[in-house]
Amino acid sequence: MDKTKELFNLARRYLVGGVDSPVRSFKYAGGRPLLLKSGRGAKVFDYNNKEYLDYVLSWGAAILGHAHPAVLKTIKQKLGLGLGFGTTNQAEIELAQEIARAIPLIEKIRFVNSGTEAVMGAIRLARAYTGRDKIIKFADSYHGHADYLLVKAGSGLATLGIPASAGVPKDFIKHTLVVPFGDEEALEKVFKKYKNEIAAVLLEPVGANYGVLPADTGFLKRVRSLTRKYNSLLICDEIITGFRFRFGAASHDFGIIPDLICLGKIIGGGLPIGAYGGSAKIMNNLAPLGKVYQASTFAGNPVVMQAGLAALKILKNLSDGYLRIKDLTEYLCANLKEAALASGVDLEINYYESMFSLKFKSRFEFSKFYRPMLDKGVFFAPSEFEANFLSFAHTKSDVDKTLYAAKEIFKKLEKRLDK
Ligand SMILES: *Cc1c(COP(=O)(O)O)cnc(C)c1O
Repeated sequence: MDKTKELFNLARRYLVGGVDSPVRSFKYAGGRPLLLKSGRGAKVFDYNNKEYLDYVLSWGAAILGHAHPAVLKTIKQKLGLGLGFGTTNQAEIELAQEIARAIPLIEKIRFVNSGTEAVMGAIRLARAYTGRDKIIKFADSYHGHADYLLVKAGSGLATLGIPASAGVPKDFIKHTLVVPFGDEEALEKVFKKYKNEIAAVLLEPVGANYGVLPADTGFLKRVRSLTRKYNSLLICDEIITGFRFRFGAASHDFGIIPDLICLGKIIGGGLPIGAYGGSAKIMNNLAPLGKVYQASTFAGNPVVMQAGLAALKILKNLSDGYLRIKDLTEYLCANLKEAALASGVDLEINYYESMFSLKFKSRFEFSKFYRPMLDKGVFFAPSEFEANFLSFAHTKSDVDKTLYAAKEIFKKLEKRLDK
């Protein structure tokens, strides 16, 4: 009996498209989506108990692998204390302290429940702090689903975007300026044109939502100097990159110090979280000290905070951990590329540290590779635009299995090309 299929049919009856987030539908890859029951380390299991090697890792959150014993132990120990009171708790203070120590520019932090909320909070704060309305975002970057960030680049040189989703009024995005990533000239033009109107530039230091886009240090530095010159804030969206490449923020590695940093994913130890932080001077504009309102029933939830704290403690004490998964990712990507090439398959791989994305010549080719990989028990991100990740639970043998499976599929694709 195919339990997963049965469940998905039921899911479709009650959940829109059978999912709570569009990418989970596997619409891009084609075919039925995965419904996962459990996970352990680098592996996840569906409702038929089929095993998959997981490169999605809860969209990057599960950097320790699934069900890490130390994280689970901590949560279990604390569960009996209650699930939340809507007041400040010790774990929340300790997680704030841990993050502030790892990311020195963060003197004060505010916890929320998702990355989307973190970015919304940071932008409201930046607007209040600067007394300006406009923000700049880069084309193809993703910063959550706030109305005014669901913007596509307009045509030609227009920096005024168009709504990227139905239900977003044009009026709501009129303060969002969209610039191509890496285009210094376009950025400078926008700054010159809007001079004293730009509250902030919102930036992912390493792009992870339109395939992996390795950082361009020169460009990042230029963004930093332009924001300084025009007295705008620089907000780094490190919801994926924070604690992904090192114990701290990625922006530091590129020599830029933003004004505000948004965090999420990894810092919740697998549970829902978001956070934004920066200097006390800026952050103290939030209520109750300042005039910027932002509140939440579940923010700083003690169970989430305990999970995040447990995860960060493990990450902090890894000796060569980050370097190991970086090397492993490089090994995987180089060999995948070589195997694809040997079979005449046109595969573009972008990677940065422990993050990579796979791009084929067409969506059709992607699913010709994707579906059989899934059948062989390898769970890659179901779209070329989503990033894949390695966790500390991934081993060389896991990666070798992935390569072995991929080679077989490339060979089959090659035969098909020959026909
Ligand atoms: C995941 C993500 C978000 C949104 O976070 P949610 O928790 O899904 O709301 C924002 N920005 C980036 C860069 C992300 O990767």
